[in-house]
Amino acid sequence: MSDRFVVAPTVHALPVTGSSDLFAVRRIYCVGRNYLDHIREMKEADERDPPFFFQKPTDALVQNDATVAYPMDTQDFQFEIELVVALKAGGRRIPVEAAEATIFGYAVGLDMTRRDRQREARDRSLAWEMGKSFDQSAPCSALFPVSAVGHPKSGSITLSVNGQERQRGDLSQLIWNVPEIISKLSHQYELKAGDLIYTGTPAGVGPVVPGDTLVGEIDRVGRLTITIGPEDK
Ligand code: MN
Repeated sequence: MSDRFVVAPTVHALPVTGSSDLFAVRRIYCVGRNYLDHIREMKEADERDPPFFFQKPTDALVQNDATVAYPMDTQDFQFEIELVVALKAGGRRIPVEAAEATIFGYAVGLDMTRRDRQREARDRSLAWEMGKSFDQSAPCSALFPVSAVGHPKSGSITLSVNGQERQRGDLSQLIWNVPEIISKLSHQYELKAGDLIYTGTPAGVGPVVPGDTLVGEIDRVGRLTITIGPEDK
Protein backbone atom coordinates (compact mmCIF):
# COMPACT_ATOMS: atom_id res chain seq x y z
CA MET A 1 0.00 0.00 0.00
CA SER A 2 2.54 2.57 1.13
CA ASP A 3 4.65 2.22 -2.00
CA ARG A 4 1.68 3.48 -4.01
CA PHE A 5 1.98 6.97 -2.54
CA VAL A 6 3.82 9.46 -4.73
CA VAL A 7 4.60 11.36 -1.51
CA ALA A 8 4.38 9.34 1.71
CA PRO A 9 1.87 10.67 4.26
CA THR A 10 3.26 12.02 7.54
CA VAL A 11 1.54 11.45 10.88
CA HIS A 12 1.67 14.35 13.35
CA ALA A 13 1.16 13.02 16.86
CA LEU A 14 1.43 13.94 20.52
CA PRO A 15 2.63 11.71 23.36
CA VAL A 16 0.10 10.65 25.98
CA THR A 17 1.34 10.98 29.58
CA GLY A 18 1.44 7.66 31.42
CA SER A 19 1.22 5.61 28.24
CA SER A 20 3.28 4.62 25.22
CA ASP A 21 0.31 5.53 23.02
CA LEU A 22 0.48 8.41 20.59
CA PHE A 23 -2.43 10.73 19.74
CA ALA A 24 -2.55 11.32 15.98
CA VAL A 25 -3.62 14.89 15.27
CA ARG A 26 -6.18 15.50 12.51
CA ARG A 27 -6.84 19.27 12.65
CA ILE A 28 -5.80 22.17 14.85
CA TYR A 29 -8.56 24.69 15.64
CA CYS A 30 -8.08 27.83 17.73
CA VAL A 31 -10.49 30.20 19.46
CA GLY A 32 -9.79 33.81 18.59
CA ARG A 33 -10.69 35.57 21.85
CA ASN A 34 -11.73 33.93 25.07
CA TYR A 35 -10.45 35.89 28.11
CA LEU A 36 -11.80 39.39 28.85
CA ASP A 37 -8.44 40.79 29.97
CA HIS A 38 -6.81 39.77 26.66
CA ILE A 39 -9.67 41.28 24.61
CA ARG A 40 -9.17 44.51 26.57
CA GLU A 41 -5.40 44.57 26.00
CA MET A 42 -5.91 43.99 22.26
CA LYS A 43 -8.67 46.67 22.06
CA GLU A 44 -10.11 44.99 19.01
CA ALA A 45 -13.47 43.46 19.84
CA ASP A 46 -16.76 43.83 21.58
CA GLU A 47 -16.57 41.81 24.78
CA ARG A 48 -19.94 40.22 24.04
CA ASP A 49 -18.99 38.99 20.56
CA PRO A 50 -19.53 35.26 19.98
CA PRO A 51 -16.35 33.18 19.72
CA PHE A 52 -14.71 32.82 16.33
CA PHE A 53 -12.34 30.16 15.11
CA PHE A 54 -9.31 29.78 12.87
CA GLN A 55 -7.06 26.85 12.00
CA LYS A 56 -3.38 26.12 11.99
CA PRO A 57 -1.89 23.50 9.67
CA THR A 58 -1.45 20.12 11.36
CA ASP A 59 2.23 20.11 10.48
CA ALA A 60 2.67 23.37 12.44
CA LEU A 61 2.65 21.17 15.57
CA VAL A 62 5.82 21.47 17.69
CA GLN A 63 6.71 19.00 20.46
CA ASN A 64 7.63 19.83 24.04
CA ASP A 65 11.29 20.79 24.57
CA ALA A 66 11.76 21.66 20.90
CA THR A 67 13.39 24.75 19.42
CA VAL A 68 11.18 27.01 17.31
CA ALA A 69 13.06 29.00 14.69
CA TYR A 70 12.30 32.73 14.80
CA PRO A 71 9.99 32.81 11.78
CA MET A 72 10.32 34.62 8.50
CA ASP A 73 8.16 37.65 7.73
CA THR A 74 7.85 39.19 11.20
CA GLN A 75 9.48 41.67 13.56
CA ASP A 76 6.94 40.92 16.31
CA PHE A 77 6.83 37.21 17.15
CA GLN A 78 4.59 36.67 20.18
CA PHE A 79 3.44 33.95 22.60
CA GLU A 80 -0.11 33.11 23.68
CA ILE A 81 -0.42 30.42 26.35
CA GLU A 82 -3.56 28.30 25.94
CA LEU A 83 -5.37 25.25 27.27
CA VAL A 84 -5.60 22.65 24.49
CA VAL A 85 -8.45 20.16 24.24
CA ALA A 86 -7.96 16.87 22.34
CA LEU A 87 -10.98 15.06 20.93
CA LYS A 88 -11.51 11.29 20.83
CA ALA A 89 -14.85 11.63 19.05
CA GLY A 90 -16.62 14.21 16.94
CA GLY A 91 -19.87 15.12 15.36
CA ARG A 92 -21.97 17.93 13.95
CA ARG A 93 -24.10 20.29 16.04
CA ILE A 94 -22.97 18.68 19.31
CA PRO A 95 -25.15 19.84 22.24
CA VAL A 96 -23.24 21.52 25.08
CA GLU A 97 -24.37 18.74 27.43
CA ALA A 98 -22.84 16.08 25.16
CA ALA A 99 -19.55 17.86 24.48
CA GLU A 100 -17.44 16.54 27.36
CA ALA A 101 -17.99 12.97 26.17
CA THR A 102 -15.98 13.82 23.02
CA ILE A 103 -12.85 14.84 24.96
CA PHE A 104 -9.84 12.55 25.17
CA GLY A 105 -7.63 14.83 27.22
CA TYR A 106 -5.95 18.16 27.76
CA ALA A 107 -2.56 19.76 27.09
CA VAL A 108 -0.65 23.02 27.34
CA GLY A 109 -0.27 24.86 24.04
CA LEU A 110 1.24 28.01 22.60
CA ASP A 111 -0.60 29.88 19.85
CA MET A 112 2.54 31.49 18.42
CA THR A 113 1.63 34.63 16.49
CA ARG A 114 3.25 37.00 13.99
CA ARG A 115 1.54 39.96 15.67
CA ASP A 116 2.56 42.49 13.01
CA ARG A 117 1.03 40.30 10.30
CA GLN A 118 -2.10 39.75 12.43
CA ARG A 119 -2.58 43.50 12.99
CA GLU A 120 -2.02 44.14 9.30
CA ALA A 121 -4.69 41.54 8.48
CA ARG A 122 -7.10 43.22 10.88
CA ASP A 123 -6.42 46.72 9.55
CA ARG A 124 -6.61 45.73 5.88
CA SER A 125 -9.40 43.13 6.22
CA LEU A 126 -7.11 40.31 5.08
CA ALA A 127 -7.24 36.66 6.15
CA TRP A 128 -5.53 35.72 9.43
CA GLU A 129 -3.26 32.97 8.06
CA MET A 130 -0.10 35.07 7.78
CA GLY A 131 -0.39 36.04 11.43
CA LYS A 132 -1.47 32.72 12.86
CA SER A 133 -1.07 29.71 10.58
CA PHE A 134 2.62 29.57 9.73
CA ASP A 135 5.30 26.89 10.19
CA GLN A 136 5.98 25.83 13.80
CA SER A 137 3.17 28.03 15.12
CA ALA A 138 1.53 25.34 17.30
CA PRO A 139 3.74 24.04 20.14
CA CYS A 140 1.87 21.56 22.36
CA SER A 141 2.78 19.49 25.42
CA ALA A 142 2.05 15.81 25.95
CA LEU A 143 -1.63 15.07 26.55
CA PHE A 144 -3.10 14.16 29.93
CA PRO A 145 -6.10 11.89 29.41
CA VAL A 146 -9.41 12.69 31.09
CA SER A 147 -8.98 9.46 33.04
CA ALA A 148 -6.02 11.10 34.80
CA VAL A 149 -7.07 14.75 35.17
CA GLY A 150 -10.83 14.86 34.71
CA HIS A 151 -12.13 18.06 33.11
CA PRO A 152 -10.20 21.00 34.61
CA LYS A 153 -12.54 23.99 35.02
CA SER A 154 -10.34 26.17 37.19
CA GLY A 155 -6.66 26.46 37.98
CA SER A 156 -3.81 28.74 37.02
CA ILE A 157 -2.54 29.17 33.46
CA THR A 158 0.84 30.91 33.25
CA LEU A 159 3.64 31.66 30.83
CA SER A 160 7.16 32.71 31.74
CA VAL A 161 10.00 33.90 29.53
CA ASN A 162 13.53 33.22 30.81
CA GLY A 163 12.09 32.58 34.27
CA GLN A 164 10.06 35.80 34.43
CA GLU A 165 6.27 35.45 34.54
CA ARG A 166 4.54 37.23 31.65
CA GLN A 167 1.03 35.79 31.52
CA ARG A 168 -1.22 34.63 34.36
CA GLY A 169 -4.86 33.72 34.26
CA ASP A 170 -7.27 31.11 35.52
CA LEU A 171 -9.25 28.58 33.52
CA SER A 172 -12.36 29.79 35.32
CA GLN A 173 -11.98 33.09 33.39
CA LEU A 174 -12.74 31.50 30.01
CA ILE A 175 -15.61 33.47 28.46
CA TRP A 176 -16.78 30.39 26.55
CA ASN A 177 -16.06 27.21 28.48
CA VAL A 178 -14.77 24.05 26.83
CA PRO A 179 -18.15 22.34 26.22
CA GLU A 180 -19.53 25.59 24.76
CA ILE A 181 -16.49 25.91 22.47
CA ILE A 182 -16.86 22.34 21.21
CA SER A 183 -20.57 22.82 20.64
CA LYS A 184 -20.20 26.12 18.80
CA LEU A 185 -17.31 24.88 16.63
CA SER A 186 -19.31 21.77 15.72
CA HIS A 187 -21.98 24.04 14.24
CA GLN A 188 -19.38 25.22 11.69
CA TYR A 189 -17.29 22.10 11.07
CA GLU A 190 -17.87 18.40 11.56
CA LEU A 191 -15.45 17.59 14.38
CA LYS A 192 -13.61 14.28 14.44
CA ALA A 193 -11.38 12.23 16.69
CA GLY A 194 -7.86 13.64 16.53
CA ASP A 195 -8.89 17.28 16.49
CA LEU A 196 -7.14 19.74 18.83
CA ILE A 197 -8.75 22.97 19.99
CA TYR A 198 -6.65 25.82 21.41
CA THR A 199 -9.04 27.66 23.72
CA GLY A 200 -7.67 31.22 23.84
CA THR A 201 -5.16 33.17 25.91
CA PRO A 202 -5.26 35.42 28.98
CA ALA A 203 -3.65 38.88 29.10
CA GLY A 204 0.07 39.56 28.99
CA VAL A 205 0.97 38.44 25.47
CA GLY A 206 4.27 39.78 24.25
CA PRO A 207 7.26 39.38 21.93
CA VAL A 208 10.18 36.97 22.07
CA VAL A 209 13.69 37.04 20.60
CA PRO A 210 16.10 34.26 19.62
CA GLY A 211 17.52 32.55 22.71
CA ASP A 212 14.41 33.01 24.85
CA THR A 213 13.06 30.02 26.75
CA LEU A 214 9.27 29.88 27.20
CA VAL A 215 7.66 27.76 29.90
CA GLY A 216 3.88 27.44 29.97
CA GLU A 217 2.11 25.73 32.85
CA ILE A 218 -1.50 24.90 33.56
CA ASP A 219 -2.52 23.58 36.96
CA ARG A 220 -2.99 19.75 36.68
CA VAL A 221 -2.55 19.83 32.88
CA GLY A 222 1.22 20.00 32.77
CA ARG A 223 4.02 22.04 31.35
CA LEU A 224 5.33 23.04 27.93
CA THR A 225 8.86 24.31 27.30
CA ILE A 226 10.19 25.69 24.04
CA THR A 227 13.25 27.68 23.05
CA ILE A 228 13.32 30.32 20.33
CA GLY A 229 16.04 29.58 17.82
CA PRO A 230 17.88 31.79 15.33
CA GLU A 231 15.94 33.46 12.56
CA ASP A 232 14.56 31.13 9.88
CA LYS A 233 16.13 32.85 6.86
MN1 MN B 1 -4.74 32.55 20.67
